[in-house]
Amino acid sequence: MRVRNKPQALAMLEKYPQYVIQNPEDYRGKWQTLFEKEQPLHIEVGSGKGRFINEMAKAHPEINYIGIEMNKNVLVNALDKLVESEVPNLKLLLVDGRNLNEYFADGEVHQLYLNFSDPWPKTRHEKRRLTYRSFLETYEQILQPNGEIHFKTDNRGLFEYSLASFSQYGMIIKQVWLDLHASDFAGNIMTEYEEKFSSRGQVIYRVEAYFPE
Ligand code: SAM
Repeated sequence: MRVRNKPQALAMLEKYPQYVIQNPEDYRGKWQTLFEKEQPLHIEVGSGKGRFINEMAKAHPEINYIGIEMNKNVLVNALDKLVESEVPNLKLLLVDGRNLNEYFADGEVHQLYLNFSDPWPKTRHEKRRLTYRSFLETYEQILQPNGEIHFKTDNRGLFEYSLASFSQYGMIIKQVWLDLHASDFAGNIMTEYEEKFSSRGQVIYRVEAYFPE
């Protein structure tokens, strides 16, 4: 989806350095020092407008969260939500999820969320998919042993591709949902895309997978 350019976006993001961390490489291995409490760290890659990560932070004060998004024009929406909610256990980063090992030390992250990642359906764009092998290599590095990836999408092609990619990489598929909203899964927090697609009657797929020790 095309996102409107917002000329003031960068200035807005820089105005709140307590929420949008400006020099993330400086916190590699030290993210806990930025939060009020030292507790498990969960990150979302491709947070978009930030509803999921903001609601998760409210629902789980026992976890520290970082929302990662490379598009400044949507990250400002996530910032708006954070300014309003003032949750102490959420920070935001304007970076490319491709380079996460520049920002997180080995094993620093406990869990990673991918929600409605861009499908990049053309084969020549495979390397841009957030579940492509090179991304998995980085996730494995920054996640603690047995660290999990929780992935939701409405896109059947990307879902099948991701299951194959996880499995070929040697990850363990813990659980799969072929229709999340019709299941008994408790505590689902809808993302902006999830609400849009499910309101059109589209099925939501979900998988939990982890890198074994
Ligand atoms: N997760 C949100 C939701 O479900 O509403 C947004 C979904 S949107 C389709 C995908 C988002 O991932 C976009 O905002 C895009 O900028 C972001 N994204 C794509 N590739 C990324 C990358 N390599 N690093 C960080 N963000 C990325």
